[in-house]
Amino acid sequence: MTSSNREPLLTELKNYLIHLKDLGYTEVPCETKLNLQQEAVAPYSQTPLSVNKMAAKNSKALTAVQQELGDCTRCKLSNERKNIVFGSGNPHADLVFVGEGPGADEDEQGLPFIGRAGKKLTEIIEKGMGLNREKDTYICNIVKCRPPGNRDPEKEEIATCNPFLIQQLKAIKPKVIVALGKPASSTLLGRTVPIVKERGTWHEYEGIKLMLTLHPSYLIRFYTLENRKAVHDDMKKVLKELKK
Ligand code: SF4
Repeated sequence: MTSSNREPLLTELKNYLIHLKDLGYTEVPCETKLNLQQEAVAPYSQTPLSVNKMAAKNSKALTAVQQELGDCTRCKLSNERKNIVFGSGNPHADLVFVGEGPGADEDEQGLPFIGRAGKKLTEIIEKGMGLNREKDTYICNIVKCRPPGNRDPEKEEIATCNPFLIQQLKAIKPKVIVALGKPASSTLLGRTVPIVKERGTWHEYEGIKLMLTLHPSYLIRFYTLENRKAVHDDMKKVLKELKK
């Protein structure tokens, strides 16, 4: 199988596994024995499938950031984390989503946005925007380790992790960044952002267009028509910008 026809299959498999997780499966339902001797597949963030030269360059830069981060213990969030959640998706994506920090599921698996909020984000990207999460976007957080009990990350923790976010975004060089919720918006803009008031507005981050929107977990908690429409409108603006 060539890498070009393996890519959509792997994307589909990934989405299927996310779907199973959201349905509550802890194992893959399977009636036949899996051949565990088959070639192992590394995580997306470490093994880009595109052979596009630019993507390879971005991917190399991103891998360098991940290597520099290493088994980071620069802040106290390292004390209780199981896995560092660096980010996942296409290193050459035009669109990057930046969230707040990993939750329990993400900490367990080392991948961003795979729990309930992740399912909602995938829905927004795939059903709402008509994009493919793994192929068309890259997703990461302002802190790479789970704050205990899902508390908000503290100022010092955000500041310590921020250089890696900056380098990540520089490596990817997307056309548009979407900040999900108040902590991500405030971190990227360097000021306290009243997100409900400022969502839907364009800003700039290091020369990249930055859209602020509601965090998917906020949307789940306050699942009103008004909030759904707000996120829908924000994503419409993002799509318009991506098409320019
Ligand atoms: S949150 Fe960031 S700075 Fe803190 S330990 Fe994790 S990776 Fe390091």
